[in-house]
Amino acid sequence: MAKKIVYVDEPTCIGCTLCTQVCPKVFEMNDDGKSYAKTQDDTEENIQQAIDSCPVNCIIWKQ
Ligand code: SF4
Repeated sequence: MAKKIVYVDEPTCIGCTLCTQVCPKVFEMNDDGKSYAKTQDDTEENIQQAIDSCPVNCIIWKQ
């Protein structure tokens, strides 16, 4: 099975920064105050924790 890739649906992100606190190796705020996945460099569990912390559910796995 192909590795899952995580990405942020930027138009939906409200810029709360929670994901960057839960999983700072992967998520970073860009200049527009939106989060993006700068790497995929963490465990699936930690990334999933960030996904679960997002109040607007805009962090998404892509197969
Ligand atoms: S937790 Fe969700 S809404 Fe908050 S910054 Fe991250 S992607 Fe954006």
